[in-house]
Amino acid sequence: MRCSSPTVLKIGGSVITFKDRALTPNLPAIERLAREISESQVSPLIIVHGGGSFGHPIAAEYKIADGFRESGQRVGFSKTHNAMVSLNSLVIEALLNNGLPAFSIAPSSFIVTRSGRIHYLCMDVLGQAIKLGFIPVLYGDAVFDYSYGFTILSGDQIVSRLAVELNASRIIVGVDVDGLYTSDPKMDPHAQLITKVTVSELKDLLSRIGGSSFTDVTGGMVKKVIELMVPASAGIEVLIINALKPNNVYRALKGEEVVGTRIIKG
Ligand code: ADP
Repeated sequence: MRCSSPTVLKIGGSVITFKDRALTPNLPAIERLAREISESQVSPLIIVHGGGSFGHPIAAEYKIADGFRESGQRVGFSKTHNAMVSLNSLVIEALLNNGLPAFSIAPSSFIVTRSGRIHYLCMDVLGQAIKLGFIPVLYGDAVFDYSYGFTILSGDQIVSRLAVELNASRIIVGVDVDGLYTSDPKMDPHAQLITKVTVSELKDLLSRIGGSSFTDVTGGMVKKVIELMVPASAGIEVLIINALKPNNVYRALKGEEVVGTRIIKG
C-alpha cells in the first residue's frame, strides 16, 4: 500500500521480548514480524518498538523513571539506553535481512522531555529519512528531561506525538492480547474485547477506573490508550491488535480486517 501520509507501527515489548525473562528477545516473533512488514510493502512507514524485558528491569533497578537523584544512577541510565540499543539492533537486523531500508534513530538524541512529557523535538532527521524512503525505527528510551534530569520515555508517547507531527494516516499498535478489553484479559476470564470505541466513549470508560472492573495492574494498556487518544482525537485512526498472532500485522498494514480495537475520533 502506498500513501503519502505515513503509517506508524508500534510493536510492543510484550511481543518482541519475553517479559518475564530479563534481556530475552523473542527472536521468532521479531523475524516473523520483519517478514510480514516486508511483504506488506507499506510506505512510508515508521516503526517504534517497546522495551519489554530489555528496558524495564534495568530502568526499575536504578529508578530511572523517578529522575536523577544520585550519581550512581548515571550508569543505570546509560545501561537502560544501551539495552534498548541492543534490542533495537535485533529488530533492525531482521528488517534489513528482509530487504527493508530500516534505519535506527535513538529518541534520546532528538527528544528532550519536561516532567516526563515530550518538550523539545527535532523532526529534521526523521523527516529527511522518511523523505528518502527509509523506515525509521525508534524505541522507548531513557531520555534527558528538563525538570527531572532524565526519565523514561515510552514508545507509546513517541508513537502518539510523531503520528500527530507527521500527520500520519493511521497508527497500528501490536500487543500480546487482542486489543483493549473491559478488564485485563489475563486476569479476568469475563473480560470483553472492545472492538470499536470513540475517544469520548473511551474517556467515559477510563473515568470509571478505580472501583470498576476496568483495571490495569501492569499500567500497560490504560497508559497506552491515554496516549493514543491524542492522535485519535486529531482524526488519526488507531488500531490495537495482537501482534503475536501470525499475519495480524500483515493484514492490518494491508488495510484488511483484523480482530482488534479501533479507536476513532468523536
Ligand atoms: P507492551 O509492552 O506490549 O506495549 P503492555 O504490557 O504495556 O504492552 O500492555 C499490554 C498488557 O496490558 C496486556 O498484556 C494485558 O495483560 C494488560 N492489560 C491490562 N488491562 C488491560 C485491558 N483492559 N485490556 C487489554 N489489556 C490489558
